Amino acid sequence: MAREKILVAEDEEDILQICIRLLESQDYQVTAVKDGRLALEAARRERFDLLLTDLKMPRLDGLETARRIKELYPEIVCVVMTGFGTMETAIRALQLGVDEFLVKPFTPNMLTTAVAKAMEKVRLRRENIRLRALIPLFELSKTFMSTVATGQLLRRVLEIAQQETRADKAALILLSKNDRPLAVHVREDSDIEAMLGDELAIELAQVSEQVAIPFRQKPPALSPPWIEQLAQVGIHTAIVTPLRSKTKPLGILLVIKDHPQDVFAPSDAEMLSILCGQAAIAIENARLFEEIQRAYEELKELDRLKSEFINIAAHELRTPLAILMGHASLLLEELDGSAGQRMEIIVRHAVRLRELVNDLLTLRYLEAGMTRLRPEPCDVRELVETTMSELEFLIQDKGQVVNVFIEKELPFIMVDRQRLHLVLSNLLSNAVKFTPAGGNIIIRGWLEGNAALISVQDSGIGIPPHEIEKIFERFYQVEDSLTREYQGIGLGLSIVKGVVDLWQGRIWVESELGAGSTFTFTIPQAVAIMD
Ligand code: ADP
Repeated sequence: MAREKILVAEDEEDILQICIRLLESQDYQVTAVKDGRLALEAARRERFDLLLTDLKMPRLDGLETARRIKELYPEIVCVVMTGFGTMETAIRALQLGVDEFLVKPFTPNMLTTAVAKAMEKVRLRRENIRLRALIPLFELSKTFMSTVATGQLLRRVLEIAQQETRADKAALILLSKNDRPLAVHVREDSDIEAMLGDELAIELAQVSEQVAIPFRQKPPALSPPWIEQLAQVGIHTAIVTPLRSKTKPLGILLVIKDHPQDVFAPSDAEMLSILCGQAAIAIENARLFEEIQRAYEELKELDRLKSEFINIAAHELRTPLAILMGHASLLLEELDGSAGQRMEIIVRHAVRLRELVNDLLTLRYLEAGMTRLRPEPCDVRELVETTMSELEFLIQDKGQVVNVFIEKELPFIMVDRQRLHLVLSNLLSNAVKFTPAGGNIIIRGWLEGNAALISVQDSGIGIPPHEIEKIFERFYQVEDSLTREYQGIGLGLSIVKGVVDLWQGRIWVESELGAGSTFTFTIPQAVAIMD
C-alpha cells in the first residue's frame, strides 16, 4: 500500500521538527512547511490525506489554510494544533469541518494518537468511497447478469454515473473497430451529442487517462486542446474517464455539471474509475456475446441451407438418374465392342452416383425424424460376413487382412438388420479406405449386460485428436476435399451416428495418428427385446 501523506504547517521550527520526526517514525510520508501560504501551494502541487496545522501562523492562519485546502480536497482530514482555545475558534473550526484539536504543549504520544485517530477517519472515508462505488457496481453487475443487450447495459452505466456523481449530464462515447467513435450514447434527456459535435466526440473518445475539469491542482503545462474546445461549447465542469478492455480502448464516459460553481469531488473521480473498469468488462462481454450470437445465427442459417441442399439434391437427382440408368442398362445389353465398354463405365459411375443420392436421402430421412426402426432377430456374424463379402474386391485389391471375433453369445440380437448393415458397411468401407495396402482390420462383437457392442479396428492413417469430434458432422472430412486422395463426400459417419442415435446407442472412436482407429458402437437392449 502507498504510504499515507501528511502535510504539516507550523511556524515554530522546534515543533515542526518534532512533528516531522514523530510522524516519519510512524511511517507517514511527511511534507513540512512554515506557514499557511506555503501549505496551500504544496496542496496545489500534490494531494495529501491529512493536514496538521498550527492555528496561529503568519500570512495565513491555520483555519483559513484548512478552509482553502478543503476547497481543493473536501475529503482531507484536518488536525489543528493550538496553544489557546477560545469558544469562537472552536466553533469556527467545527464549521470548517476540522476533525481534531491538539492542545499545546502536547506529548509525543498525544500527537501520534491524534494523528492515528484522524487517519482512521481518512481510511473510513476512503472505505466509504469504495463502498459508494461498489453499490452501483453491484447494481450494474445485476444488470449485466440479467441482460446481455449492449444498449440496456450502456443506459444503466450512464444512469449510475449520473446519479452517483450528481452530474447534470452523462454520455458514453464508444469507439468502433477502426477506432472511430461508433456511437455517442447519452441519457435520453440530455443534449450532449449536439453540444459536442462529431469532431470533438472523436477527439474525446480517444482520451486515455482520466481528466477532471476544472483541475484541482495546477493544470499541466500542455493541457490537451479538447479541454479548451469543451469550454468553447460551454462545458467547464466535467470528468472524462476512459474505458479500457483487457486489450484495447473502448471509449470514454463523460459526466458534466452545468453550473460553474458546482464541482466534482475527488471521490467522484475514483468511483467513476472503478465504474468504468467494470463497465468496460461488461461492455466487452456484451459485445462478444452479440458477436457469438450473430455467428451462431449464421451457422444456423448455413445448417438450414445444408439441409435444404440435401433435400433438393436427393429428390431432384433421383428421377433423372433413374431414367439415365434405365436407358444405359438397356444400351449396355445392345452394344458391344468399345461402345459396350464405354457404356459399362457409364453404368458403373451411375451406380456410384445412385449410392451418393441414396446416402443423401438416408441422411435427410434420419434428420427429419422420418426413419422408423424395424427390429428383427439378426445374426451378427452372418451380417458381418455379408458386409465383408460386399467389400471383398476392395479388400483383396489392397491386400488387407480382416479378422472377425464375435462372442458366441452374440450371434442373435434384436436389431433393425437393414440399418445395422448400413452402419457396418460404412465403418468397414472407411476402415478399408483409410488403411494402406497390406493393413489389418479387426471386427469384434460382444455383449455387456443387455447391450451389444461392435467395433471396427483398423491399422490405418488414424485421425488427429482435434478432429475426432467433428468427423461425425455432415460433409466433414479431415482432408481437404480439393486435395484429397480418398473418395467420398463426408456423409458416411453422420449416417452411422444418425442410426446409432436412433436406437439410442453410443458411438465413439479411439485413434492414433499413423497407427489406426477403432470405431465402437452400442445397441442397447439388444437382448432384452429378444426375451
Ligand atoms: P467419407 O468417408 O465419405 O469422407 P465419412 O463421414 O465416412 O465420410 O468420414 C468422415 C471423415 O472421417 C473421413 O473423410 C476421414 O477423414 C475420417 N475417417 C473416417 N473413418 C476413418 C478411419 N477409419 N480412419 C481414418 N480416418 C477416418
